[in-house]
Amino acid sequence: MDLRRHDFQLDELVERIKSNDHRLVALQVPEGLKIQALEMMDQIEDRSDAKVVLAADPCYGACDLVHDKMRMMGVELVAHMGHSQMNIDSGMQTQFIPVTYEGDPELDPILPIIAQHHTVAESRLEAIGKEVELDDSSARDHFLDAIGRIAPLTGTKLGLVGSIQHLHLLPEYKERLEKSGYVVEIPVGGDRLSFPGQVLGCNYSGDNPSIGHYLFLGSGDFHPIGLVLHTGKPLAMLDPYTGDATEMSLERIERILRQRSGLIMAVDGAVSFGILIGEKPGQMRRSLAIRMKRLLKKHGRKGYLLALDHVGPELIDFYPVDAFVNTACPRIAIDDSVRYAKPLITPFELEVALGEKEWEHGYQFDEIP
Ligand code: SF4
Repeated sequence: MDLRRHDFQLDELVERIKSNDHRLVALQVPEGLKIQALEMMDQIEDRSDAKVVLAADPCYGACDLVHDKMRMMGVELVAHMGHSQMNIDSGMQTQFIPVTYEGDPELDPILPIIAQHHTVAESRLEAIGKEVELDDSSARDHFLDAIGRIAPLTGTKLGLVGSIQHLHLLPEYKERLEKSGYVVEIPVGGDRLSFPGQVLGCNYSGDNPSIGHYLFLGSGDFHPIGLVLHTGKPLAMLDPYTGDATEMSLERIERILRQRSGLIMAVDGAVSFGILIGEKPGQMRRSLAIRMKRLLKKHGRKGYLLALDHVGPELIDFYPVDAFVNTACPRIAIDDSVRYAKPLITPFELEVALGEKEWEHGYQFDEIP
């Protein structure tokens, strides 16, 4: 990856600092771009009279806006880089700074994968149309999606999505894919998302039944895993950094689901739970945590509410409870549970374990709306 190809748009930030005569600004930079943070601080200080303090704690999303501690330090403005605004108010003035990557990968290598996924979507849609003629088990076989649901499907459109650095590519790629014969939608999600086609690790709200399969523009499998767990639909992946064309394999999703199922079984005899509440503004799900505590009580179990800014094994493993339920960033339970000594499950998984919900109706991804 060539970081120099990332384009930081600092002009608006510098203008805002100057016109408000800000003296102290906090800069928040995602982990992958921190290596360039000092360069950004130099640029801001050279172009304005403000001093810049780097908020150097880990930052993985706009859910994690720095707030009261920076205010106590006298910070007047937070410059948050590389993520977009979501439906939260941190209580601090914040300027979101877009970061785009200019890489423009070839579409050709991904086309065979998209064609194959389109066939899968067509056969699912066809089977749904013939639902009445099939017996129960063949109906299930025909239109179960990757996560075991009989999900409603009304079309086979190609959903075109990406992570934030690559969203500027979507309109042009849509045209190119349409020329290849696909009906393409860049889905528009809910309030947590700022742009058409945007996905977050905890929100895929643009999905709709007319989309039969997806193409994701971005790197890594963090967003793809969440997208398939949320939608159950086939997903092709094109990496603008490397040009690699791949897909999210069903085996990978099955492995994750087997692990989730194992964890649900593991909490069967658990009587005491730590319920994790995220202190970050965009991860705080206080009502959900309290609902989990009530649910545990209803089933004769005990829940302790534990509020944390960062969540890690060294911060919770030692508590004398049998298991943990996570209401902070959903991906802590999905991606990291192997790092913890005790079972770490999502709220949906707790509801399944307690018999309030049924796994048979398909896996339900823990989404923050
Ligand atoms: S809650 Fe987790 S997945 Fe969602 S934006 Fe924050 S870090 Fe990303």
